[in-house]
Amino acid sequence: MDNLKIYNTISGSKEIFQPISTDSVTMYVCGPTVYGEPHLGHARPAITFDILFRYLKHLGYKVRYVRNITDVGHLLNDADEGGDKIGEKAKSLKLEPMEVAHFYTKKYHESMYQLNVENPSIEPLASGHIIEQIEMIKKIIDNGFAYEARGSVYFDVIKYNESNHYGILSRRKVEDMLENTRDLEGQSDKKNQVDFALWKKASPEHIMRWPSPWGDGFPGWHLECSAMSCKYLGEQFDIHGGGMDLVFPHHEAEIAQCCAANNNKGAKYWMHNNMITIGGQKMGKSLGNFITLSEFFKGDHEKLAQSYHPMVIRFFLLQAHYRSTVDFSNEALQAAEKGLIRLFNAMKTLSELNSHEKSTIDVLLYTSKCEQAMNDDLNTPIVLSYLFELAKLINSTKQGENKLSKQDIHQLIDLFEKYVINIFGLQPIQKFKSKDSDSGNLMQLLLELRNQAKDTKDWVTADKIRNDLNNLNIEIKDTKDGTTWSYKK
Ligand code: ZN
Repeated sequence: MDNLKIYNTISGSKEIFQPISTDSVTMYVCGPTVYGEPHLGHARPAITFDILFRYLKHLGYKVRYVRNITDVGHLLNDADEGGDKIGEKAKSLKLEPMEVAHFYTKKYHESMYQLNVENPSIEPLASGHIIEQIEMIKKIIDNGFAYEARGSVYFDVIKYNESNHYGILSRRKVEDMLENTRDLEGQSDKKNQVDFALWKKASPEHIMRWPSPWGDGFPGWHLECSAMSCKYLGEQFDIHGGGMDLVFPHHEAEIAQCCAANNNKGAKYWMHNNMITIGGQKMGKSLGNFITLSEFFKGDHEKLAQSYHPMVIRFFLLQAHYRSTVDFSNEALQAAEKGLIRLFNAMKTLSELNSHEKSTIDVLLYTSKCEQAMNDDLNTPIVLSYLFELAKLINSTKQGENKLSKQDIHQLIDLFEKYVINIFGLQPIQKFKSKDSDSGNLMQLLLELRNQAKDTKDWVTADKIRNDLNNLNIEIKDTKDGTTWSYKK
């Protein structure tokens, strides 16, 4: 258990993972703000921390994993101004905010299920923890690190920074932050622009509002994660995760809130996954490359050459280390699809091999290499590279170029099951979807027969093939480059 090393953003180095309690792990990950369709940016943290969750359990830890749903308090500009993301969406659709939150929470859950992401142990809603948030604000005010201003409450960063370090996680200095903020004197109730809201007074048109000692309002976005992690995991817990874009201000503010309320930083290890680009560009609605997960699964976007099975997306993300950026392109996803099929084909071949008395492959060496890579800050791409080396060896064993003992075959079956199925959470994709598979070859055969029929003007046969495939949900298209087939959307 004590061989696992993880990169801790707060120290900027890999550290040996030593949980607070010897046999259990407490972990909190920032979940989605549920005001839009889940997209790739949601898949990456969910899958990264799903791998960690699965791996910790595999190592024998009892894990309590909390991943929240943000359904209030996240404002349009990610800071203290602008409308509530969910409230604004509700206004534009003429719905109740909770209808919007519920609808997109369901969408998120559906996508996570398709990606084979395990459910966290607890999935708390921000709107269900207003009382805990108000209590935490009271504590912070009592300790002298927050002030009330016209019905809002702000965190006093300057005061806090006198005895603590605001910027400990993001390696920023308050002096630099102050220099970089525009002087908005008179336009804000804040003492300093670096201060952030713990509670915001609700304007008359603001829909999502709750009573508080400071009047009707709503909690600040950063506060919910501090209040919920503290409630379910205690004032000190093991791991806090999220995307790198949350390091500042969200996670920096969380640390400050926890220290100000409880004199405790909260999490011991801070882990952050890197971002995703599409064709080298940042993903964004305005850039026209914003692709939702369901569009990926259906191939329903102009940038997509085909549909991609959720397992291909999952596998593709695991091919990169979670702290590296990942660039999505059709070519890369098609390569991932082939790789995934190769891996499962190797598993199938493995179960069909004849055993020999002695092995010519050092299976134990691969077992320990995989373990070392996984313990090295979850280095999934390296583990996969070893599994692919093994896949090659398995194929050459089938050709008679190598030998494996019965015991080694079993060991290899265990090794593949452990990583591919249990830790990486991969599942075989429908064989039919691949043009490499037997079924793909059968489709090729059918299309050739149809072309022959067309050449001899046998329209009855040609139409029968097209119509019967259509009934099987397969669409064929005649283009100038030949005939293609795809599943109907
Ligand atoms: Zn959070």
